[in-house]
Formats: sequence, C-alpha cells, structure tokens
Amino acid sequence: MQVFLSLGGNLGNTQEIFKACYPLIENKVGAILQQSSLYQTAAWGLQDQADFINQVILVETDLFPEAILVAIQAIEKDFGRERKVTWGPRTLDLDILFVDQQNIQTANLQVPHPHIQNRKFILIPMHEIAADYVHPGLKKTIAELLRESKDESAVNIIPHL
Ligand code: ADP
Ligand code: MG
Repeated sequence: MQVFLSLGGNLGNTQEIFKACYPLIENKVGAILQQSSLYQTAAWGLQDQADFINQVILVETDLFPEAILVAIQAIEKDFGRERKVTWGPRTLDLDILFVDQQNIQTANLQVPHPHIQNRKFILIPMHEIAADYVHPGLKKTIAELLRESKDESAVNIIPHL
C-alpha cells in the first residue's frame, strides 16, 4: 500500500526533528519513496504561535491503516509530543493523508484526512510530489483542489542550503 503522510512541527529545531524521524518512519512504517520540499507555513487555526514547517512524504507499507496510526503516534511520542492544546504548538505532528484509494471512517481514523482540501500547507507540498493524485472522496486531483482552495495563508518553500 502507498500512504501519503504529512509532517508538521513548530517547536524546537523542526528540520532536525524531521531528519531524525525519517529512519523511524522507515523502520516502523516502510520505505520512503518520495519527499516534498520543506515549507514554512503560517500557523493555522490558532495563530498566536510560531510558523510551522510542513512536508508531505510517500511511504510504501504493509501495515493496515490502524497500525500505521499506532506507528506514527509512537514516533510522535518519541519526539516528546504532548497533546495539550488543539492546533497548538507541537514538536512533531504526523497525519495520514491518503492510503491508496481507500476510504476509512472509524472513531479514531478518517482517511482521506478530512481537512486536506482546506489547507494549502498540505496541498502545496502534496502537489509537488503527486499533482495528479485523485482524492478518492472528492474525485478531484490535488492540482484541482489546490486551484479551488480558498486558504489564503502563507506557504513558502524553504530553499535547500
Ligand atoms: P491534528 O493532527 O488534527 O492537529 P492530533 O494530531 O492531536 O490533531 O490528532 C488527533 C486525533 O486525530 C488522533 O488521536 C487520531 O486518532 C485522529 N485522526 C483521525 N484521522 C486521522 C488521520 N488521518 N491521521 C492522523 N490522525 C487522525
Ligand atoms: Mg495529527
């Protein structure tokens, strides 16, 4: 199965935290096939906090979606993530965006992630690596969703050093 994961963080050295989490993702979830650039993004939802860094990656996995969720939550915990404030600062947020063309609606897992179409910090990095991927619920490509998105928040690519 191919799973698109979103990475985000705004507490601590996020670029270093991302680098350190890739081997954990490869161990616990599967091989990383593609990685977008990193993007600096204005905090969404709760604005009085530091900018975020966001990235989307594509991972090949044998795990069922529920097990992917358990694995990414364990990795978040390794980086000291504490769930205190909804949309508040976090060292590492890992979300499942898509799993192949599956539609999953359980109490603790919604796939596709329900907010993809509202968030440029997801659509822009995803567009970089998979513009033609079709959202299985909305039946539109990432390129179309990005064109139609009304999210005005800033999303700026971080140039490679
Ligand atoms: P958010 O990512 O929305 O800021 P959290 O990371 O704290 O918030 O996640 C809250 C809950 O969202 C998790 O406990 C998880 O059960 C649930 N959840 C539902 N769908 C997904 C998904 N596609 N990816 C990750 N978490 C999800
Ligand atoms: Mg999350």
